[in-house]
Amino acid sequence: MTDDARILTIIDFLEEARLLFDSWNCKNREIASYTKNTLGRRFEEILIVNASKSSKMKVVPSSEYNFSVYEAGRRYIVCLEWKTCTCGRFKHNEIPCAHTIVVLKHKNVTDLHPYCSDYYKPDALEKTYEVTMVPMPDKEDWIVTDYVLQEIVLPPMYRRLARRPRKRRKKNADEKITVKKILVGNMEKKDITGEILLSSRKRIKIMF
Ligand SMILES: [Zn+2]
Repeated sequence: MTDDARILTIIDFLEEARLLFDSWNCKNREIASYTKNTLGRRFEEILIVNASKSSKMKVVPSSEYNFSVYEAGRRYIVCLEWKTCTCGRFKHNEIPCAHTIVVLKHKNVTDLHPYCSDYYKPDALEKTYEVTMVPMPDKEDWIVTDYVLQEIVLPPMYRRLARRPRKRRKKNADEKITVKKILVGNMEKKDITGEILLSSRKRIKIMF
């Protein structure tokens, strides 16, 4: 979008951007309005994947909230009070990991949503997109003074930032493959200027 829009004046550029964000906002608001009893699509998918991994695990309760879960010879500790698991995913994603789901199943909990972050829930999603962008009236209907109209302002040109220099020179395609002979010594000594001198013992060929 930006490449095409760069040739536009600032006002037209902003109008392009507004149209694009408005259509995204509108589409996401519509999707969020369908989502009433589930999490947002991506988050519900994570929950389903985690639930599918939660078979073949053994749960051993330690207290009302603490559980040990054994999976493939490893032990994970789930705390439902603090919403943590020693695998780290429960706290990080704020969606129950496979170990937590197996614990919740063990406790006959069927609704996993109270254990997910509120940010993934329909209300939060709807709020994210609730603000609508008000369209501007047509350019012909604007009341603009002449001196403003005459001034043409374009977006700044994009300049490529400096990158770290290459460690090796990039060879041209027409450069020939050469055979170099280098000296490899199994002894080295320093001369009085401090330069390393290699005493030649072997000669090897290296293809570049
Ligand atoms: Zn876990």
